[in-house]
Amino acid sequence: MRRLTYEEVKHFVEVKSGSGCKLLSEEYFNSDSKMIFRCRCNNIFETTFDKFKFRNKRQCNKCARKKISKSQKLKYEEVKNFIDEMVKELKFISRSEAEQKQIIPKKMN
Ligand SMILES: [Zn+2]
Repeated sequence: MRRLTYEEVKHFVEVKSGSGCKLLSEEYFNSDSKMIFRCRCNNIFETTFDKFKFRNKRQCNKCARKKISKSQKLKYEEVKNFIDEMVKELKFISRSEAEQKQIIPKKMN
């Protein structure tokens, strides 16, 4: 593979990737050498160009954590919506229907 130039790397980081990151390092040796980036939140972080490009390491650790908790919140809302839907449906099920579907135990007579 052709060796990238510093300009190509910088262009990828700051324009093409759409990450909002700035490349602060002024030299590029190879895709495995660590470089300094500035995150869109202005935090400084260090990673290799390889990780930036292929493993989506395109933000500082703080933003990475924020992203994870945001996706967990979405999941929680999805589950809550699902439960709300179930509860709504259950309201329209009669007692005998619920017994038939074994949602509630049958009365022993
Ligand atoms: Zn950040």
